[in-house]
Order: sequence, then structure tokens, then C-alpha cells
Amino acid sequence: MTWAGKNVTVAGLGVSGIPAARVLHGLGAVVTVVNDGDDERSRTQAADLEALGVTVRLGDGATLPEGTELVVTTPGWPPDKPLFAAAAAAGVEVWGDVELAWRLRGPDAPPWLAVTGTNGKTTTVRMLASILEAAGLRTAAVGNIGVSLLDVVTGDETYGDLDVLAVELSSYQLHWAPSLRAHSATVLNLAPDHLDWHGSMEAYAADKGRIYEGNQVACVYNVDATDKPSTEDLVRGADVEEGCRAIGFTLNAPAPSQLGVVDGILVDRAFVPDRQKQAQELAEVSDVQPPAPHNIANALAAAALARAYGVPATAVRDGLRAFRPDAHRIEHVADVAEVAYVDDSKATNTHAAEASLAAYESIVWIAGGLAKGATFDELVTKSAKRLRGVVLIGADRALIREALARHAPEVPVVDLDRTDTGAMSEAVRQAARLAEPGDTVLMAPACASMDMFTNYNKRGDAFADAVRELGASA
Ligand code: ADP
Repeated sequence: MTWAGKNVTVAGLGVSGIPAARVLHGLGAVVTVVNDGDDERSRTQAADLEALGVTVRLGDGATLPEGTELVVTTPGWPPDKPLFAAAAAAGVEVWGDVELAWRLRGPDAPPWLAVTGTNGKTTTVRMLASILEAAGLRTAAVGNIGVSLLDVVTGDETYGDLDVLAVELSSYQLHWAPSLRAHSATVLNLAPDHLDWHGSMEAYAADKGRIYEGNQVACVYNVDATDKPSTEDLVRGADVEEGCRAIGFTLNAPAPSQLGVVDGILVDRAFVPDRQKQAQELAEVSDVQPPAPHNIANALAAAALARAYGVPATAVRDGLRAFRPDAHRIEHVADVAEVAYVDDSKATNTHAAEASLAAYESIVWIAGGLAKGATFDELVTKSAKRLRGVVLIGADRALIREALARHAPEVPVVDLDRTDTGAMSEAVRQAARLAEPGDTVLMAPACASMDMFTNYNKRGDAFADAVRELGASA
């Protein structure tokens, strides 16, 4: 592909649009950025780009500039935007930032081990990077995790000479990455999320399933997932390289070509010389932090990708032992009066909250926020027996209260009718009142945070502050 003189429209300023515009301009393309917003911040960003010679059109993200030969979009722009209809009508391709990075990677670029799924992506990618490092490989956790693939492939010094990349991809990025071909990839799980963006569960699953297209060595799927389509269905639907294998992971004993768990040991029955008769011990369940069921699944998926790349079993163990989870993901904050306080602010949907509720026996659950169209009946039904009590906060708390009334009427509920920033302190005090020694107070809201906080980090910080206040007054 020759870039010199090519008319490229970049859709959207922001974290991926600005670097894309810079890179394309640097390659000699004639770049126009279009952006819906025309606020103070966009104007400053536009001025910086214009100083380079990039054209920026603020306040109109709908019209395709005359002569456009390629659109490179911010992954967050939904596919039903008029700009994309205009591009389709004009026969112009639309790429996301990941597709652009894929196309720009050099001839000796490191292969990609790719991870997607509704939940657990970041954790799994970081576990994977930790395992690859333990094997002595030069690697980095990149992509949706907050490290731009464009920076990586265009030779940002920090990402100099790497052997292999551990890549997190979102469903949006996959939607706009038609030619991406990973060495090996996994869809960890699939539960309804972002359906407003994708239009339907089928479309969401299809975008996630794109990650398996063209895989060379292994398509790693979740054996235990019962949702339809299953991740195994997505593997079956993918067109892969000759010889690429389907590898399952399960919390049960593994069948041939699977990784699983036997008597507290993570076991590989896929990457062994004789998978009918042999199994390779990889690590102990207690090597995984935290050793909650969903996180064991993440560890198995990471191990499967690493083993597909050829790392030895000992590196899986060492890498998992060295791994520490990110903040706000089932993070143990403190014990106060023999009650554990756990911050899972990152549980922003019901599927994630269900996983963390499954990890504790007796829970006072702090929940609520923005429901994003979710329903709570299934979550409450599955978790009811573990609930000592519930404290509800946030804009959509009535939805959870009603589900509790339907499926767990005996569980005491404190409904905090407030969405101000002080609400978290009161929620923690109320939870402490409901909890008994040995219980866990779990803030796994099953909702987004933006009704009360800037983001889930701030929500988690507010929880941790409130727990510390409680500890100080205890
Ligand atoms: P993502 O990058 O997909 O958002 P994270 O690794 O950041 O995932 O974890 C987000 C939240 O999802 C965690 O706080 C936890 O509650 C939940 N979670 C993690 N792994 C899984 C899993 N395999 N299945 C279900 N929920 C999970």
C-alpha cells in the first residue's frame, strides 16, 4: 500500500484518532479529521493537528469528505453512523485503529496472541504477558488495555524489539479489524453487553468471533460457557489456517485437547506429545491471584495461549505466581471487625458481578449505578443464597431492588436514596451494620459508575476511603 497522497479521513479526535492522524500524515497521506464535537478541547486538539498540516472539520462527523479513499475510525463510533453509510455507498473501506496497526506492522513484526471476551480481558492479557516474561520472552501487554497498538507497531522505543505481543481487543476494535490474523486467540466468555452499539447479541458475538479468523496455531474456547452462541460455536464458524487447533479450557477435568483442573492443579492435556494418555501439570490453583473460579478460567486461557506459543510448563507456574491483579478487580481493601472488604468496582455489568459473587460464601453486597439496559433477575437468583444483605446505591438501584423482592425477599436490603459522592461512605457503614464476622462486604455494583463517579476507579477509591474511615472509627 502506498500512502503518499492517499486521501484518508480519520473519524473522531481523541485517544485513537489523534495518533492515527499523526501517523498517517507522517506516511504522506492527505489526512482530514472529522469530529462531531466542537468544544474547547476539540479546538485545542484540532489546532495542534492543523499546525502539522492535517485538515480538521469540527462539528460535523456525519459527512464524508469529498475524495476520501479510506476511513480510519475511532473504535467507539457505532456502525450505524451516517458517515459509514456514506463510505459504504462510495465503496470506501473503514478501518479501526487496530486494523491500521495491523496493516502498518513491519515484515518481522512479532506475532499477536489475542484476547477478547465480555469480562476478564485485561486480567488474562496481563497474566499472559507475565507467563511469556517468565519464559524469558520479550513481550508487552498492549491494545485495549491502554497501550495503543499503533505506538507499538510504529516503533515507539518503549516497545523496541519484542518477540510476541499479548493483545487485548474489544468487540468494537474487532468490528473494525477485518484483516487481523492472530497467531492464536481466545474469546473468554460471552454475555450480553454493549448491545446498543452492536445492535444485537448475534452481531456482538460475531464481532467477538472475528478474533479467531485466520488463527495459525490455536483457537482457545471456554468449554464451560453455556450461553449461546458458545465460544466454541464461534471457533467452528471461523476460517483458520490449516493445522490450527481448537483448544478448550474448563474448570473441570480436561478432555484431550483441553486445559483444566484436577485436584487443585491446573493441567494441560492439549500441548503434550500424547494427549490421549498424558497430562502436564502447569500450576496449582493457589498460584492464581485471586483464586476465584472465574479467575482460574482466565489463568487457564492465558496458559493455553502461552502453551500454543510454545512456552514450558514451569513458565506458566512462575508467570502466574508473579502476576498481581490490577486495582479495583476483586481487590481486598482491609479487614475491619473480622469482615473482609473487597473492591470489585470493575464489575460494571451483571456477568462480572456474578463471577465475583460466586467467589465468596456469605456476602453483604453493595450494588447499583447505571444499569445500561441490563436486567438483574438471573444475577439475583444465582447469588441469593450467598447474600447476608444488600446495600443499594445509584440511579438504577430500583431495578436491583425489584429483582431482589422477586427472587430473594428474605434478604435485608438498605436502599440509599442518594447519588452524591458521600453516598459511598454511608453505603459502607450500612454494609458494616449488616455484616457478621467472617462475611465479605463486596462492592461489585453490576452497573456503570458514571451516575455518581467519573469512572470505576474513582468509585473504587471512594469505597476504599470509606473502608479506611470505618477502620479508623472501629
Ligand atoms: P475486562 O478487561 O474484560 O473488562 P477485567 O480483567 O478488567 O476484564 O475484569 C473485569 C471484571 O470482570 C472483574 O472485576 C471481575 O469482576 C470480572 N471478571 C474477570 N474475569 C472474569 C471472567 N472470566 N468471567 C466473569 N467475570 C470476570
